[in-house]
Amino acid sequence: MPISDFTAKLLELEDVIIKDISSSDTEIHVFFSLKRRPHTCPHCSSVTEQIHDYRTSIIKDIPFMGKKSFLHYSKRRYHCSCCGKHFYESFPLLPKHCRITTRLAFYSIHLLKNRYSVHSAASLLGISDSSVFRRLKDICYPKPSSLPKVLSIDEFKGNAGSQKFQAILTDTEHHRLFDILPSRSQTSLMRYFQQFPNRKKVAYFVMDMNQVYRDLALEYFPNAKLVIDKFHVVRYVTWALENVRKRIQKQMHPSKRRYFKRSRRLLLTHRKKLNEEGVLALEVMLQQSPDLATAYHLKELFYEFMESESREEAVHRLKFFRIAAQASELEEFDPCLTMLANWAKYILNAFECPYTNGYTEGTNNAIKVIKRNAFGYRNFSNFRNRIFLALT
Ligand SMILES: [Zn+2]
Repeated sequence: MPISDFTAKLLELEDVIIKDISSSDTEIHVFFSLKRRPHTCPHCSSVTEQIHDYRTSIIKDIPFMGKKSFLHYSKRRYHCSCCGKHFYESFPLLPKHCRITTRLAFYSIHLLKNRYSVHSAASLLGISDSSVFRRLKDICYPKPSSLPKVLSIDEFKGNAGSQKFQAILTDTEHHRLFDILPSRSQTSLMRYFQQFPNRKKVAYFVMDMNQVYRDLALEYFPNAKLVIDKFHVVRYVTWALENVRKRIQKQMHPSKRRYFKRSRRLLLTHRKKLNEEGVLALEVMLQQSPDLATAYHLKELFYEFMESESREEAVHRLKFFRIAAQASELEEFDPCLTMLANWAKYILNAFECPYTNGYTEGTNNAIKVIKRNAFGYRNFSNFRNRIFLALT
C-alpha cells in the first residue's frame, strides 16, 4: 500500500489522494483531492468523467494528535458534455456549503451529550457557537406518541422562549425523560395532554401540591391515582416547629437563650437518631416551654407517620397526628392541617406505590446545570433538544 493510502486510512479519509501534509506545534494541514471517477450529472443524468476545474476549500476537521486540523480539499468540478453544465463532485464527509466536516459537527454534539455547554464545546473545537447551534437544530426529538403508565410532572424556571416556567414530564417507572413543554400553564398542558389517545392508561400521576396539576389529572387521567411525593409534605411540619421555636426564643430571657444553641438541628432530627448528649440537650430545651415540647412531640408523630410501611398504617398514624395537632391549639400548625385537609387523600396514595418525584427532581437539577452553563436559551426548541441530548 502506498504511504499516502496509509495516511488516508489513519485520518479515516478513505478514497482520497493525499498530496501533502504540513504541521506546526498546534496545527495540522492535510492537502488532498478525491479519486477521479465517473459522475452522474445532476441536471441531465448522463454520466461524465470530464474535469472542468478545481477549487480549494479549507475545512476544519476534528482535532488530530492534539492539534487543530484543517483539510485543504481540492474540489473538482466536472463538465457534462451532454448538457454543457458544470457541477461539483460529491463528498459525504462534507455537506454542501460547510466549513466543518460532518464528523466534527457530530463530535461537537457528542461533547454536548457529555454536559459541555455550546460555548465550551465550540471553543474547544475552534468553531463558532453558531455552527454548534446549527447542528443542534438538525437534531430532532419528536413528541412521544403515547403516555407512560407512571407519569410525573414538575416545573422549572427555564426562561426559554417567552415563558418563565417550563414543565418537565418523566416516565417515573423507567426513569426516563418523557418530554419538556414550553409552558406549565393550564391551557398549554390541556392542549398537550389532549393529543394522547391512551390517557386512560395512565395509572399513576406523581406531582407536587399544585391545584392546576390536580384538576388537570382528574379530568384527563380518569383512571390514574394521584400521588403527592411525601417529601414535599414534611416541610409543613418542620416550618410549624421552627415557628414555635422562634416565638419561644423571642419571649425568652437572654440568659436562657444559650439552651437554644444548635436548637434547629436538635429539634428537627428524628429523636431516635440523636446520641445521648443530643437527647440531654434536647430535654433541657423542651423543659423551657410546654408549647415547644408539644410541637416537638407532633413533629415526631409526623415522622412516624412518614415511616409507615403500608397504607393502612399510614391512614391510622395520620389520623392520630391530625387529632393531636388540632388538640394542641398551636396556631403554627394551622397551615399544616389545612394542607392535609386538601391533600391527605393523595399523600396517602404514596404509601401504596414505590413512585416518587425523585427522578424528576434529579432531572430538574441536571437541567439547571445546562441552563447555567448556557446562560439561558432564548429558543425553546434548542433548549428542549439540548436537554434531551444530555439526558437521554
Ligand atoms: Zn448534464
